[in-house]
Amino acid sequence: MLTAHAPAGYAVSKLAVWMRWIPESCASPRTVIGVGVVAALLPDLDMIYFLTIDQRQHLHHSYWTHIPLFWVAVCCGAGAACFFLRRRHMIPLVVLAGVNLLLHCFLDTIVAGILWHKPFSHRYTVFAEVPNAYPYTALNFILHWTFALEVLIWLAAVTMFAWEKRTHKRRAIQIPQAPFSDPQSCQ
Ligand SMILES: [Zn+2]
Repeated sequence: MLTAHAPAGYAVSKLAVWMRWIPESCASPRTVIGVGVVAALLPDLDMIYFLTIDQRQHLHHSYWTHIPLFWVAVCCGAGAACFFLRRRHMIPLVVLAGVNLLLHCFLDTIVAGILWHKPFSHRYTVFAEVPNAYPYTALNFILHWTFALEVLIWLAAVTMFAWEKRTHKRRAIQIPQAPFSDPQSCQ
């Protein structure tokens, strides 16, 4: 997936806020959205290592940052830490981060391989092969039918954002204003 990880993370996190899956005692809606979007982008931080230290020698999807079972283990560890350190109210936030990390892996599986079975198997799983029809790699992905999914995710996230803004504006208008008082009249 080229561009839709952040809007996918936003959409899932916004849904969690709207459905009240994460209580306000755990985190504010802004924190929930922030954690969700960061988690949805986190695996692709390996691009820094891929482009600088590794010098493109291995697929960045072979790094541990794109191994789903690694993130499951990390989230289970974080959840257990919250439980034993009496921070149980944070567990829903850890679950949300885990969902967004696995969502990243799932979205990457659409046109690029992900090692879903590692460490038990080194076979990449991929849903659709993108033919190498154009000289520019990005163009091959943009002109493939799967790019419509990216557009749909963007549309969903922008619609949710606009809906939230509209509802917020309406609520602000409905809050009764204090009656106008003329300071002169008190004298
Ligand atoms: Zn990725």
